[in-house]
Amino acid sequence: MEKGKDPREGIKGLLAKGGLKKLLVKAGEIHGHYCSHVALGVMATYFAFKKLGITDSTGMEEILAVVECNNCFVDGIQAVSGCTFGNNALIYKDLGKTAVTFIDRKTKRAVRLAAKYTGEDATNDPEAEEARSLFDKAVKRREKLAPRQMERMKELWTKMSFASLSRPESELFDINFPEPEVIAYAPIFDSIKCSVCGESAMETRVRMKENSPVCIPCAGDEYWMVAGRGIHPAGKK
Ligand SMILES: [Zn+2]
Ligand SMILES: [Zn+2]
Repeated sequence: MEKGKDPREGIKGLLAKGGLKKLLVKAGEIHGHYCSHVALGVMATYFAFKKLGITDSTGMEEILAVVECNNCFVDGIQAVSGCTFGNNALIYKDLGKTAVTFIDRKTKRAVRLAAKYTGEDATNDPEAEEARSLFDKAVKRREKLAPRQMERMKELWTKMSFASLSRPESELFDINFPEPEVIAYAPIFDSIKCSVCGESAMETRVRMKENSPVCIPCAGDEYWMVAGRGIHPAGKK
């Protein structure tokens, strides 16, 4: 372990000098593929930080990213901004819009970027058309692509996502500066041991059954789940 070293030093440096290609590579490391939306997430973060004068976030909830979707866009945002699901600086609103609002708690300023260009829009571009038809087949209809088609799709997506990095912000996003929403810091709760399975759970997620603490699955209660289709109830048998 490197003592005292900022783990985001590399990303911070890339943000400062506008190293968008390398930032997209970083985002690809967690996202697993290159696509137009992960590139948009990279760009949204880069533009937002510039507009709010943010040089970096330290993952301590001082900078928040309020996202309105759970698609590829969000991984570009998590990788580059450092606002993640795990450090509670990523707030998810299940609105189905490719949009993000960054909030700086210190300066009390916010910027919202809503995507206009999605990379698949350019219908006069034969490669974009080809990429879209492969996407429809593989992702929308869940049909199996031949290995060669799969390779071709990845190749087209990679090309399109890196190409989109040179597009001007006005082409990519509608940008405005709303009043920052007040969002509470993540509270810290005690953990309580479930009397049935013996696992510890956050106290607000523990139920009392016959005077004993029981976790949600052991109680057979309903809970909220985030999956591909958004936030929905789960667990109730
Ligand atoms: Zn993607
Ligand atoms: Zn349990």
